[in-house]
Amino acid sequence: MRAISAFSRASRQLLLAILSLAFILPAHAQRGISLVRDAEIEALVAEYARPILEAAGLSRSGIEIILVNDNSFNAFVAGRRIFINTGALLMAESPNEIIGVLAHEAGHIAGGHQQRLRDQLARAQTMAILSTILGAGAMVAGAQSGSDGLGRSGTGLLMGGSELARRTLLSYQRTEEATADRSAITYLERTGQSAKGMLKTFERLGRAMSLAGVRVDPYQISHPTPQERIATLETLARQSRHFERKDPPALQLRHDLMRAKIAAYTQGHTAAKRMFRDNPRSLPALYADAIATFTSGSARGAISKIDAIVKANPNNPYFHEMRGEILMKAGRPVEAAQAFARAKSLDKTRSGLIQIGYGQALLATGRPENVRKAVGELQAGLSRTKDFSAGYRYLAQAHAQLGNVGDAELATAEGHFYSGKYNDARLFAARAQQKLPKGSPSWLRAQDIINFKVPKR
Ligand SMILES: [Zn+2]
Repeated sequence: MRAISAFSRASRQLLLAILSLAFILPAHAQRGISLVRDAEIEALVAEYARPILEAAGLSRSGIEIILVNDNSFNAFVAGRRIFINTGALLMAESPNEIIGVLAHEAGHIAGGHQQRLRDQLARAQTMAILSTILGAGAMVAGAQSGSDGLGRSGTGLLMGGSELARRTLLSYQRTEEATADRSAITYLERTGQSAKGMLKTFERLGRAMSLAGVRVDPYQISHPTPQERIATLETLARQSRHFERKDPPALQLRHDLMRAKIAAYTQGHTAAKRMFRDNPRSLPALYADAIATFTSGSARGAISKIDAIVKANPNNPYFHEMRGEILMKAGRPVEAAQAFARAKSLDKTRSGLIQIGYGQALLATGRPENVRKAVGELQAGLSRTKDFSAGYRYLAQAHAQLGNVGDAELATAEGHFYSGKYNDARLFAARAQQKLPKGSPSWLRAQDIINFKVPKR
């Protein structure tokens, strides 16, 4: 699991320190906003969403799902992106609960709710939206210092009326909520799934809201759940013949593995143990134990645990990937590269993240033939995960080790470009051009970076 951007609390800083590939976007440091990239979680949530988006007629709309590193229960739509908190994934006991939330959010998109704002946000960068919603201050500070990553286009809109944008984004009309609920039920029905999970989520949020003095969940603010709405929802949900339908066991297992990972990464051993106390020898419990051992600083202790898991489940790409990460941390890059290679060959979703991990491990071996191979793997991984700016650091390093200074500078330029540091990007692109053959593909790419116009406010 790779954190992007910043963590606020001390425990999170510790987490950040031990996460490989983690990096900080300074503009967001004070607000503690962060995104998470993880091949396993992304693949699973995408799988939850795919049939729903299809049923909603949105499968060709380029809807992206963004994972937010936050322990509270939240999910919201902004532009073409559905943001979902790791806290929501952790709290949801079944895939169906998350699928229900995604169905409701898809209902807002398909219903064209706040369409005008959505069109404007479609061009905005992820972090700009996130900053606006979770803390406008962070974004303003970042924009002034020029260090705000990803959020140039759309910034004008968000800065001009950030308070308005935030309020609008976080609150739908009551009629829009009812419409989204009804649409969600339709999508669930079309895909043969139960609306029970969605009902459970809204009931839980409704209950929490009625308790005075309880911390208000962000999801409640954006999706008010008065009793009558829940009652309507329940009536509709129960009419379906799929109401009692359970998620397939294989999907439930993947869901539990995901929760194990999130619990271990964000809350450590104790929380992970608590989550699986009824079944401490189950695969998710063992997975959580291995990861928590790793994240608590004992990579060596984690190796035997992940080895046992991989041995019993040789075809799960994410177990190999995790093994690779642990081996990297334990200073065994040759074996790590083998583990990532296995993960890559098993990963049907062709996650760029796994391939970047493979490239990073190859690079770390320091063997010239591996470093050459690393360049290809990193480039291929980055071509599918363009905005994962940390990957360009490894690519730059690999090029530098091979003596390709121009390519190294171009990779550095790309890294700056995708974290929104356009001045630095131009600087390195210009330096790259001096060393690259004029008119070559790399030279032309450098020219694109130099010519890139930062969208005006
Ligand atoms: Zn809603």
